Amino acid sequence: MPVEQSDAIVFFGASGDLAYKKIFPALQAMVRRGRLDRPVIGIARRDWNLEQFRARVRDGLAHQVGFDAQAFAKFSRLLRYVCGDYREAATFERLRKELGAAASPLYYLAVPPSMFATVVEGLTKAGCVKDARVVIEKPFGRDLSSAQALNRTLHASFPEHAIFRIDHYLGKEPVQNLLYFRFANPLFEGVWNSRHIERVQITMAERFGVAGRGRFYEEAGAIRDVVQNHMLMMIACLTMSEPTVNDREAIREARASALKTIRPLKPSDVVRGQFRGYRQEHGVALDSQVETFAALRVYLDSDRWTDVPFHVRVGKCLPVTATEVLIEFKRPSCPILDEHEPPLADYIRFRLGPEVVIALGAKFKRPGEAMVGERTELVARHGSGDDMDPYERLLGDAMRGDAMLFAREDAVEAAWRALDPILRTATPLYEYEPNTWGPREADGLIGSDGWHNPEGTL
Ligand code: NDP
Repeated sequence: MPVEQSDAIVFFGASGDLAYKKIFPALQAMVRRGRLDRPVIGIARRDWNLEQFRARVRDGLAHQVGFDAQAFAKFSRLLRYVCGDYREAATFERLRKELGAAASPLYYLAVPPSMFATVVEGLTKAGCVKDARVVIEKPFGRDLSSAQALNRTLHASFPEHAIFRIDHYLGKEPVQNLLYFRFANPLFEGVWNSRHIERVQITMAERFGVAGRGRFYEEAGAIRDVVQNHMLMMIACLTMSEPTVNDREAIREARASALKTIRPLKPSDVVRGQFRGYRQEHGVALDSQVETFAALRVYLDSDRWTDVPFHVRVGKCLPVTATEVLIEFKRPSCPILDEHEPPLADYIRFRLGPEVVIALGAKFKRPGEAMVGERTELVARHGSGDDMDPYERLLGDAMRGDAMLFAREDAVEAAWRALDPILRTATPLYEYEPNTWGPREADGLIGSDGWHNPEGTL
């Protein structure tokens, strides 16, 4: 029987970038909301004592979210630190001691992917995995076969219900809203299919480059870094069938089923780009073939989505930082009364960041004698309020054993299966100027009316 609530959090990679930027703030927010009162054990190679670790946490919080003395006082009491190399059994013996009476910890593996197996084996040999849960950071492998190997390693020590593959995109409020909006408004769900939808565009644009993480990026590239996980998950959220039962696992099942219908991409379905200057970044090879931009055309092999192209575009050093989904409906087939052309198509625009907007592009009659119209947007903005950071949300869910917003084994493998053909083939790499929308060649993937470029934030 799965345990109810994890009774400690152990995070590997406690001295790393992700812990500093995301995990410390998420944990403190949980403490502040009264959602965490269990020991929090950081574990890394850095030769720190507990006071030095607390100072690091404090520093991280001050830089990321501002220092809150009251919350930190509570959080700091929960902190413990274990120093050691993950390749040494003694490290796990020390961890075991530090766990004390905790019988069902949550292990968060914020470590380089090459260390996943080492840590899991270390925990297993030290007898630390019974009734435990494990959170794995992306990337979940580099391709289908390495993802399958990682899943085998994990399953040797943890049952699937105890494995939480974190894709923080799924924890984002506007991504959850994609699902809620669809299933809570039958008005739209009725037209959510290839009979009414012409095509879908998804753009995830970043103004910044690799921000000093060139070495990491060289191992990944845009397709592995954000398409395999965030973008394909988004396609799954946009296309999955409505679960037939009101059950959290049914959502995972529907998401995985949608991913399994993605037709494996062909080299002609992708255009890769690299911004001029990337090869001069620290940690980047002078002849690097890694893409910082990718445009893809994705089809689903399902009756519901026959022949609807999903045009995905991700990139660094683009003109704005924005993530947007555009659902374009089919145009009316003939002009209306005094018009000479059929009216423009309707659309729904989901702006997922930096601000959250849902807009409906629809036509209205222009005032006057003639029966002609114009397209206007009906816009709903979501006030930011006290939104929960995705990491806070997901860590809390993992501690409770709620896996709805985590990627299941078959979903991860289905995503790799779709992309494997283009990862295994050397496709051309086109250079583009920073502050542009990527290489011109990307225009060839989409029809004559071109890509929808999201606007920047004013
Ligand atoms: P870092 O390189 O910054 O940190 C790695 C951590 O692992 C450090 O705490 C390091 O300890 C520890 N470590 C590595 N090898 C050993 C070892 N043999 N023994 C003990 N400790 C070891 O990585 P990130 O924090 O950037 O990333 C961690 C994971 O999160 C990766 O899988 C990454 O892909 C993923 N990720 C990161 C994001 C980010 O924004 N940083 C975003 C999304 C995912 P020490 O420093 O003491 O040697």
